Amino acid sequence: MKTASEFNYLGRIFLLLIILSAMLPPAISKASDKNESATRIVLLGTGNPQPDPDRAGSATAIIVNQTAYLVDFGPGVVRRAAAALRDKGIRELYPPKIRVVFNTHLHSDHTVGYADLILTPWTMGRRVPLEVYGPPGLKEMTEHLLAAYKEDIRIRTEGLEAIPKESLQVNVHLVKPGVVYQDDNVKVTAFPTSHGDWEHSFGYRFDTADRSIVIPGDTTPTQATIDACNGCDILIHEALTMKFVNNSRRPNPQGFDLKKYAATYHTTTSQLAELANKAKPGLLILHHNPISLRPDKRPMASTPADLLNEITTAGYKGKVVVGHDLDVY
Ligand SMILES: [Zn+2]
Ligand SMILES: [Zn+2]
Repeated sequence: MKTASEFNYLGRIFLLLIILSAMLPPAISKASDKNESATRIVLLGTGNPQPDPDRAGSATAIIVNQTAYLVDFGPGVVRRAAAALRDKGIRELYPPKIRVVFNTHLHSDHTVGYADLILTPWTMGRRVPLEVYGPPGLKEMTEHLLAAYKEDIRIRTEGLEAIPKESLQVNVHLVKPGVVYQDDNVKVTAFPTSHGDWEHSFGYRFDTADRSIVIPGDTTPTQATIDACNGCDILIHEALTMKFVNNSRRPNPQGFDLKKYAATYHTTTSQLAELANKAKPGLLILHHNPISLRPDKRPMASTPADLLNEITTAGYKGKVVVGHDLDVY
């Protein structure tokens, strides 16, 4: 029969093993890519502001040489990164390893995951600063979020978890058009976009040893996007379907002018067809579109087939696909 002290001793070891196993990345059953130095794109969130369970909020990962670079942190970003690790074997997206992030603009559907990205990987073991690049206002958002979670941070650093307080660091870098980041893997160039009343919004071009990738974020069609791509390998662009814009039965409790909104803030399928014919990407990936992957549940919504059909009918001649969460390109 075990004594109480023996039981306490064994119990503590058991508890320690549970805590340690929670901090380690889950076992990977297979490599996700034979050539792991090749640049890959992982679509973490292809949705829009709709709380669609099939499509997380805006977030895209570029993976180069065992390093992940993120663009935007919409709702669900950390869970999708964990899913990319668990389901696709993409070890670079083990959340504590994510440390370089870019933001196109501060709309909530691109930033609601920010607190999650700051705090969750930190509690799971990130001990280097999170480096975040984006428009003016990002610094204030960061400071407000850290202030909002002040008690959580106090309990985690001063309580039994004893996470070193100095390990929670977020370095915000405000961007302007031009090269905003460069390391051995990637050069990142920001360019201005045109997104309605937002004074500052940016798209990003990534140049790696084997690929050029352009992600404008939310924008009307602009010459800056065409110039940033200019025959790039991959352009990841939004597009509103005309079926969505012209749907008079779409719920609109505010009664705002959707056509004017679309023309001021976003890009339609026909506009994107024209833009992409000029930008000439090797592959056009569509994301952030008003579509449903389960049209049986939302019969009035556009489908992926509607989206593709509108783009090609509008005259787009290049290769185009509809992006889904966790697709890897
Ligand atoms: Zn937006
Ligand atoms: Zn958006």
